[in-house]
Amino acid sequence: MQSAGCRLCKIAREARGESTDSLANETHGHINSAGCEGMATTVMAAHHSICKHLYDSMHAAQKPKSKLKFVTLDKECNMSTLWRRGEFPRICSQEELAEKAQNIEATIIPVKKSQETRYNLDPGSFFVNRFWGRRPDGVAINEALKIVYILKFKRSTDRDEGFLEVKDTEANEQHKSIIGTLKAAAPEWEFEQIKFVVCNRGSVVESVRQAQNA
Ligand SMILES: [Zn+2]
Repeated sequence: MQSAGCRLCKIAREARGESTDSLANETHGHINSAGCEGMATTVMAAHHSICKHLYDSMHAAQKPKSKLKFVTLDKECNMSTLWRRGEFPRICSQEELAEKAQNIEATIIPVKKSQETRYNLDPGSFFVNRFWGRRPDGVAINEALKIVYILKFKRSTDRDEGFLEVKDTEANEQHKSIIGTLKAAAPEWEFEQIKFVVCNRGSVVESVRQAQNA
C-alpha cells in the first residue's frame, strides 16, 4: 500500500475536515484500541458490554447469604456521584475524602499535558476535582465487614507476551489515587482493587490457547 497510515482514522478525520497528516500505523493493536479515531465508539461499546457481562455474572453467582452489595454504575458515575449515595458517606464524609484527595493527587500523580489548561485555570481546586471525576468500572460494598472492592476492567491485545503486566501497571496507576485516598480517609475500612484483563484472541501464544481449551 502507499502508506501504513490507518484508513479508519483517515476517513474519520476527512469527515471532520481535519488534516490527515501523521496517521497512526494500521496495526491490529491500533484498530482494537480507543486510540483509533474510526473505532473509538465501537471499542468503548465493547468495553462497556464486557464490563456489564462480568458484573451481571458476578451478581448472579452471589450466594443468598452474602452481604456484598454491587453498586450499579452508569456512564455518569464517578467518585463525586458515588459519594452522594446513601451508603458511601457513612464510610467517611465528603470533606474528609476531599482533604486526603488533595494531598495524594498533588503529591503522587503529576499533571498530564492534556490537563495543563485546566490546572492553570484553577490550581487550587484542580486536584480535588480530578479526584471527584475519577471513575471506577464497578464497586461492591460489604457494610457488615467494612470492605469495599473497586473493580477495574481493561481490554488488551494479547500479541505481546507482557500484556498482563502492562495492563496491571496501568490499572494500578488509575487506582493509586482512589484506593490511597480511601485508605487515608477511612483507616478502619478495607479497600481492595480487583482487576480483570480481557484480551482479544487472534494472536494468542499456543500455551495460553491450550490452557483455555483444557
Ligand atoms: Zn485508526
